[in-house]
Amino acid sequence: MVPLGAVLPPSITGDVVEVHARWTASHDRIVTEATVTTPDGPVVVSQLGGSVDGVAMRSMPGPPLIEAGMTVRLAVHEGRDLADRVHVAIDDVEILGGTRFVRTGPTKSGKSIYWESGCVFLVVDPAGTKAVPDATLGPAVDASIAVWNDDAAACSYIQVMQQAAPSGVLEVGNDGMNLLKFRDASWCRPAVNDDLPRCYPDAAAGITTAVFIDDAKSKRDGAILDADIEINGVDFAISVGGQSASLQACHAELQNTLTHEVGHLHGLEHTCRVATDPERVDNNGRAVPFCSDTTDPAILNATMYPFQECGETSKEVLSADDKNAICVIYPTADDPGTCAAPGSGKSGGGCCDAGGSPGAALVLAAATSLLLSRRRRGAIS
Ligand SMILES: [Zn+2]
Repeated sequence: MVPLGAVLPPSITGDVVEVHARWTASHDRIVTEATVTTPDGPVVVSQLGGSVDGVAMRSMPGPPLIEAGMTVRLAVHEGRDLADRVHVAIDDVEILGGTRFVRTGPTKSGKSIYWESGCVFLVVDPAGTKAVPDATLGPAVDASIAVWNDDAAACSYIQVMQQAAPSGVLEVGNDGMNLLKFRDASWCRPAVNDDLPRCYPDAAAGITTAVFIDDAKSKRDGAILDADIEINGVDFAISVGGQSASLQACHAELQNTLTHEVGHLHGLEHTCRVATDPERVDNNGRAVPFCSDTTDPAILNATMYPFQECGETSKEVLSADDKNAICVIYPTADDPGTCAAPGSGKSGGGCCDAGGSPGAALVLAAATSLLLSRRRRGAIS
């Protein structure tokens, strides 16, 4: 820790790791306080403005508000409040880099999607896949979930948990059951009474479909009601540790594909855009670049980068940006304290199931996210 009263250089450079905004006791101004990790130790800094209790305060003109995940150079000075406590005040902010993560959405009113509950229940289809025996499938699934739960546990409450599968044939859909489904015979969602089969791009190794509330009039705008993950065993050899019974030439390591898809399950979007994607902004409001136009390692090395190579395993490990995303969206301080399995009969503290039937008044939307493979180089623009 840099001691208060030490002579600070006029600028400090480091990573913003913790941010909270508060009203002053007089309730007439909002200040944002943050911890910045510097080579000399952490420094707590204070900035006028911020957002708390649904109210935001900004001075215009003024420097950007610092946020967790940013790498910044700050112009600072020390000052004292009326109680003679020393604060390190921010005079100016230069954003050097940092947060690149992108959230799924927005809803029509501009919200990103999110889970309301403290945990998300996932059912693994017991039908599994012919490509990999159940004995190796299970640990790969467990590891893909655990990396998100464990890597962000120091700063986030959200946990993905596995729920026992009900009997019968399980299919994806808005039923309150978040399903992990392997498709060996057809890379399509099958036909139903009044809808045809819906097939997916054959370059997609996995797809996640979320159903969420898209209703500006609802306090729950953006809340995810159901999310299902499907894994492509038709165009790829689903493999674990390089082993697969499939004859497809391109191995798609399950843990690589699934770790990425579990990021979508959390409400994360890709860190860069493909040609067909609409314009988007990242969590700091910066335009998300085309994947073909960026060399930013924070984008290219993220688990939420939208492409994988045959046999790739690098997405099995989260980048700092992926971890930070979970801690910003689901920070420990905001833990709703609810974690009830769908159908358990528990109210979960009055919040919500992981799924559940939406009220008739709620307008819903669906978002799909693909993990594309680069197996056909040149097809990617
Ligand atoms: Zn994806």
